[in-house]
Amino acid sequence: MTALLEIENLRVRFPTMGPLRARLTGVADPWIDAVCGVSLSIAEGETLGLVGESGSGKSTLARAVMGLVPVAEGQVRVEGRRIDGLGGQALAPFRRRMAMMFQDPVGSLSPRLTVRSLVAEPFRIHGVRDRDLDAEVRRLLGLVGLGPDFAQRFPHQLSGGQARRVGVARALALDPKLIIADEPTAGLDVSVQGEILNLLARLQGEIGVAILIITHNLNVVRHVTDRMAIMYLGRFVEQGATGQVFERPHHPYTEALLSANPEPDPDAVLNRVEIKGEVPSLLRRPAGCEFHTRCLYARERCSSEAPAVSSAGGAHRYTCHFPLGENG
Ligand code: SF4
Repeated sequence: MTALLEIENLRVRFPTMGPLRARLTGVADPWIDAVCGVSLSIAEGETLGLVGESGSGKSTLARAVMGLVPVAEGQVRVEGRRIDGLGGQALAPFRRRMAMMFQDPVGSLSPRLTVRSLVAEPFRIHGVRDRDLDAEVRRLLGLVGLGPDFAQRFPHQLSGGQARRVGVARALALDPKLIIADEPTAGLDVSVQGEILNLLARLQGEIGVAILIITHNLNVVRHVTDRMAIMYLGRFVEQGATGQVFERPHHPYTEALLSANPEPDPDAVLNRVEIKGEVPSLLRRPAGCEFHTRCLYARERCSSEAPAVSSAGGAHRYTCHFPLGENG
């Protein structure tokens, strides 16, 4: 079966300075790699969680998929068709198949537009004129659990949870096959976070939309994703079925993220593993394993030799010379 979305060896680069300054200061390579050699695929109706600290490249990866930042190397395919490098009219039909929910539920909604205008905006942007917009807005608000009276409200009259629901309604407008949700629960109270997660899970079950969730919140990943990938400095360090990664993490970074995650079970025994220090700058990537400057288990080999991708069985993969359980 053709995957809905396939990403192969994706690299996204940004310049750190203009070409003139680079020449004057003698900098040979003024570029940083925000995403390096990342590959993944998402099937129809599947939910994938992309996890990592801020600056790990997960939002940049999502923006590259949506054609919002250029792809330097690699391929992005939607239903088997390459879309990296496409723009304007050529990209439009693929953009309709994918919708992005941005962070900041209230700030991402234009304050001067009513909810009706906001939810109807994707139809206008994509030149869809053959639909009854009032009926569509009512349908979409109903899908996300908001009554038709919300259509006349402005963003400042919405709670954070209601604003997030309006964001979901907008994302669903053109019947996408994939929703990319960037931190869908950020800034929301815990109870409202649960409501939004239940809404996404319900929509996935009812309309079969695939969801790529970008988050640093592992409870989100645990509750709604089928598979997960952990990013560090723009690379995947571990990926696999969510249950397997939670039960048996192989990479020390995954272990540290999981142990820092608030445990929903109050009786659970916590063995906290602290991560040392800060995320290194992309301008000065550590040699060898790029996690070695923060890894509790680092040995001599780690600072000189980059680990290859290894299999932990099935689709569970990791990059570490001394995976957990073998650190002794
Ligand atoms: Fe830690 Fe070494 Fe594994 Fe890197 S390769 S994660 S430094 S043990």
